[in-house]
This record gives sequence, structure tokens and C-alpha cells, in this order.
Amino acid sequence: MGNLEHSCGVIGLSLDTKVAPFAKKALRVIQHRGQESAGVAIFNDGHISYLRDMGLVHEVLRGSEYYNLTGNVCIGHVRYSTEGESKASNCQPMTVTTSYGDIALAHNGDITNATELREQLSKKGWAFLTTSDTEIIIRILAKEFNETRDPIKAIKNTLRMIEGAYSLTMLIGDRLFGIRDPMGFRPLCIGRLKEGNVVVSESAALDVTGGEFIRDVLPGEIIEVTRTSFHSVRTPAPKNPAHCMFEWVYFARPDSIMECREAYEVRKRIGQILASEHPIDADVVVPVPDSGRAHAIGYAEGSGIKYEEGFMKNRYVERTFIMPVQKQREAGVMLKLNPIRSTVKGRRLVVVDDSIVRGTTLRKLVQMLRRAGAEEVHVRIGCPPIVAPCFYGVDMKTRGQFVATGRTVDEIAEHITADSLGYISIDGLVKALNIPYQDLCLACLNGEYPTPIPGERQRFQTRLNEHGQ
Ligand code: AMP
Repeated sequence: MGNLEHSCGVIGLSLDTKVAPFAKKALRVIQHRGQESAGVAIFNDGHISYLRDMGLVHEVLRGSEYYNLTGNVCIGHVRYSTEGESKASNCQPMTVTTSYGDIALAHNGDITNATELREQLSKKGWAFLTTSDTEIIIRILAKEFNETRDPIKAIKNTLRMIEGAYSLTMLIGDRLFGIRDPMGFRPLCIGRLKEGNVVVSESAALDVTGGEFIRDVLPGEIIEVTRTSFHSVRTPAPKNPAHCMFEWVYFARPDSIMECREAYEVRKRIGQILASEHPIDADVVVPVPDSGRAHAIGYAEGSGIKYEEGFMKNRYVERTFIMPVQKQREAGVMLKLNPIRSTVKGRRLVVVDDSIVRGTTLRKLVQMLRRAGAEEVHVRIGCPPIVAPCFYGVDMKTRGQFVATGRTVDEIAEHITADSLGYISIDGLVKALNIPYQDLCLACLNGEYPTPIPGERQRFQTRLNEHGQ
């Protein structure tokens, strides 16, 4: 199973002016999709040049090294990686040189048949420089392009071989393409600037670069983006897409619009439904900042209980989620969030967060709130229990790490030391999204994978049986 290309962010721009400053701005807007590495590949004068490295966008794309990159067409990437996978050689965009020109590729998602492809190709004598899925795609693409010398044909042939989740931006020489997998797992949209055209993971990047949203790239669609036009080529896609619900629940920016639904609005609706599914008598609704804020506002609206900030967040603390050691993660939570006593002391609190994965954050937070004098702590969660791993690009740990594995809701409440715990139901979530159930990927919630994952259904079933669920 491919395991590197977690929920990253991609861009592609074709402008009538120097593209570097625009690319940097667009990548900064989608920085939340990956903080591990950043990079761009820019076409100029017959070649593709690149700058990519570990670090945040403003740390990597800077100085004369960056601003001397001239050219009007580019792709870019921000990478999210998990513990132990931080390697400069895996930074993107990835680039190769063929006899007929340079190719660059940026990838968000996870190729589910990467291991099989790597084995097949290795047997034929292909060698790989990295452990990344993206290298497999770009090497197949390069071979197909060498053989066909036709970018669209080469892309189509490549897509026929890869399975899983991918939103791609790609340069084949000076030609820019945006591609979304046939299930539409991860987001990708197109937009227009005064200076040209853009393809990007999230629509918020268009607002910030002064652009206008046009539409989402359709599942299975290849779009060639030029300075003045979009040319669409459709590839076969199943009747039902499988949009990842977690983009709206947690991953995307609240101000991004995907499939005509703004993440903020969806989160508020989740909160409102959560209030009707799990009401509680309490004094104040408190969000876990920042990810639980919109859900908490919705819960407050739905319940009529007033909303207050209950935690101060230190925005300079690095991500605790990917810290490799549990003790580190717990200490990280304390460094990141501290209770605001005037909100907490002597009050019955409803604490609202977007999701629980291992339960580290909430267990620590509930303890902190009690120390700060909370009378009762009730926890409400805007995502149903996560019980199965994600193979489509979200870093969901192995099943042994999910706190919901083999525990009832009451047992989870006990584990996180909450007075009560309520998760939104799957039906409630689907209602909040207002997308038909069959058009969503809910695999991490119900173990039903929209594409074949060898052996997974059986492993999931065995686990449920073991725990009598
Ligand atoms: P945990 O402490 O493991 O239960 O982590 C849950 C919190 O981490 C959630 O409240 C989310 O805000 C955040 N989170 C959930 N999934 C991810 C992910 N794949 N990557 C980073 N953060 C996440």
C-alpha cells in the first residue's frame, strides 16, 4: 500500500505574467494541507526548473533563488507526511527529463496499488529513487509520453494503471494539466485570475489570489489549463463518486467550497444536528480551537446554550498529531491549549471538537478543564467514531491506535474522563453534508471501501466480530 502521499495540497497556474509570486501566495493559502515540505516546478525557455525543500512555503520559496525563477506556467505542492517519513528526496513536485522534454508532477492522495505496481515494474528492471507513490506515476507517465509523444494519450494510459485517490497537477513541457481520480476522493477546482487560469486543491486559494471560482474538476476529468482556456477530457468514471467526508469535517479550510458546499457551513450544520442528537443541560459551549470552532457554533445555535472561548491556543506550537511518542503528544496538547478560567470555573461545559482519532487531545483537555475548576465536562464530536484506516490520503493511524476500536461510546467517555460523550451519527453527518450517502467515502467510519483494498473488508469484519459489534 502506498503510504506517503497523505492529504497534501496541489496547485497549477498558467498566466500572462511571471508566475512565481502567485504560486507562492496560492500555496500559502493551502499550507494547512501540508507543513512538511513545499515546492514549485516552473516551465521556462524549454525546460522545467524547480525549487523544493523541507519546510513551510515562506521558508522554502524565498530569496533570489525563488524570485529568479522566471516563467509563466507552473505547478506546486505542499506535503503532509507522517512520523518518520520526512525525507527531502520525497519533496514535490517531482521532475523527470525525457527525450521529448521535461515532466513535473504534484500529487495529493494515495495510490492503493502502488506496491503491486512497484513490484511489477521492478521485476521488469525499473529502478526507483524514492519510496513515494508519485515517482511511480511520473515514471509510468514518462514512459507513456516517450512512446506516444501525445500528452493526453500518455496521461490516459497512465491513469488506466493507477488506482486509488489522486488529485494531480502536471506539467508536460509547457502544457499544464489538472486531474482528479474517477471517484473524486480529494478536492480539486479551477478558477480564473485577471492574469490567467488556475487549478488548485481548495477554492480559498482563488479568493486570496484575487481570482474567481469556476467549478470543481469532475471525477475522472483531465483538464488542460492554458492562460486563456480550459480544455476538458473525460475518462471513464463510475456513476457514484466517493467524496471524502473528512475534507468538510476537518481537513479543508472552513472558507473553501467543495461540491458547492462551504466547509464552514457544513461544520455548523453538523453542530446543529449534534445538538439535536445529543442534547445536554449545560452552561456554556466551548470549542476546541481551531478545528472544532464551527461545529461548536452550530451546537450553540442548535441548543440555545451560549458559546464562549474556553481555551487559549498557542499558534506557534507544531502539530501534535504527528508526534511519534504518546508522552510527547500529551505534552504538546498542554503547550498548545490552555483553559480560560473565567469561562471554565464552576461551569457545566459542552466541549465540541471535530473528531477523535486516538483520543489523546480530548483526554488531556478534559483533565485540564477539571483542574481549572469545571463542574461537568460533556464532549460532543462532529465526526462519527473513526474505526477503520484511510487508504485514500488522510493520515488515519493503524486501527490499533483508534480509541474507538473495540470500545463502546461509554467506554470511550470513560477513557477520556468525560461526564458524557456524543458523536454525530453517520446519518446526521450525511444530512449535514447534503450529499447522497452513496456519493461519499465513509470508509473510516464503516469499513466500506469504495475501491477494492485487498483483504481489508475481511480484516474489518473480523475485528467487529472479535469485539461482538
Ligand atoms: P487525537 O488526539 O488522536 O484524538 O486527535 C484528534 C484531533 O486531531 C482532532 O480533533 C483533529 O482536530 C485532529 N486530526 C484528526 N485527524 C487528523 C489528521 N489526519 N491529521 C492531523 N490532525 C488530525
